[in-house]
Amino acid sequence: MGKALIIGCGGVAQVAIHKCCQNSSVFESIMIASRTREKCDALKDKLKDSKTHIETAQLDADDTQQVVNLIRMYQPDVVLNLALPYQDLSIMDACLATKTSYVDTANYEPRETAKFEYSWQWAYHDRFKEAGIMALLGSGFDPGVTGVFSAYALKHQFDEIHTIDILDANGGDHGYPFATNFNPEINIREVTANGSYWENGRWIETEPMAIKRSYCFEGIGQKDMYLLHHEEIESLAKNIPGIRRIRFFMTFGQQYLTHLKCLENVGMTSIKPILFEGKEIIPLQFLKAVLPDPASLGPRTVGKTNIGCIFQGIKDDQEKTYRLYNICDHQESYREVGSQAISYTTGVPAMIGTMLLMNQTWFKPGVYNVESFDPDPFMDALNEWGLPWQEDHSPELID
Ligand code: NDP
Repeated sequence: MGKALIIGCGGVAQVAIHKCCQNSSVFESIMIASRTREKCDALKDKLKDSKTHIETAQLDADDTQQVVNLIRMYQPDVVLNLALPYQDLSIMDACLATKTSYVDTANYEPRETAKFEYSWQWAYHDRFKEAGIMALLGSGFDPGVTGVFSAYALKHQFDEIHTIDILDANGGDHGYPFATNFNPEINIREVTANGSYWENGRWIETEPMAIKRSYCFEGIGQKDMYLLHHEEIESLAKNIPGIRRIRFFMTFGQQYLTHLKCLENVGMTSIKPILFEGKEIIPLQFLKAVLPDPASLGPRTVGKTNIGCIFQGIKDDQEKTYRLYNICDHQESYREVGSQAISYTTGVPAMIGTMLLMNQTWFKPGVYNVESFDPDPFMDALNEWGLPWQEDHSPELID
């Protein structure tokens, strides 16, 4: 059916690319373009038996003109951005210049401030609309599937949703004292930032990890989890009418937290440049260089993830609670595509969102988050492509 240009070749991209190749009737041809071309070529080699035609290129996606040149040469139907949040705007600019639709999994973040919000990308809405192209923002798991779950709950289970609690549990064990399961720089920026949640029309900000709860996750067991700021809170607050409160919790083990606190205390998580042997370096980027590459955790990670949403609201004038979630097994993901479940749970929805845009099931010119579309085709595709969902009509609630 079409051609996709996929930018980035890290943990998430490797899963999305495997999935595109399993879905070759839609993805007839893909171009993998990333900073390190060797990684693209190695992946192409692994997938040489696929029916999808694969090309590769070296690309610095911070440079809009390079992205424009590659799009003009390859002429894709869509660009799937699986590089880092820093590249979102330069790639969106290239998509505008070439009138090409765009998909990503994480919202823009300026390098110099650990702050992520949708305002920068939503500001492209009118220009994308005038150009007749679409941007689908946040088509990973969280954000991504959590937004689709919310749209599905609203369509099929509620007349009005009042609260959403997003719960992201990782019961995986990789055997290292400390490692992050997606890009360490982005992950540590996220978890060391202040927490926040949305309540009654405004943001409530907390100290990092200040709100702790415990929850029993099917497939994992009882886990401590902490309230974080997360980007889908911002879009769901805008797109779910009548919503009163949205919170996001992620599980962390004590060992992870102890290491993180120590790294913070000695200044290793700082993003302020320092002088080291006459050269400016950013401590967090140096830390990333010495930590295990998340893409290498696949063979050694055992256990499961359990990610989903608890909804409370009204149906037929009655109060109602409902939970939607997915359980994903690290080793099963590894056996299928050679990656652990965090990359898997992000890469699969990235492929699905791109597919729905390419086959015009989801298409309207402008910039949109996933919950702005009919959730049903996405929910069906989750079951088909490896992330089956489950529901619970009387879930445990969180105070
Ligand atoms: P990785 O660090 O493993 O991969 C990033 C890739 O982007 C690498 O291949 C890297 O190249 C490439 N890259 C970085 N900078 C550039 C550049 N300037 N030009 C071209 N390529 C570049 O990260 P992940 O795969 O773990 O994460 C990818 C994205 O997915 C991130 O934005 C992350 O925030 C998001 N994510 C979203 C989730 C969700 O549920 N929505 C969950 C997890 C992640 P090189 O190989 O040279 O380093």
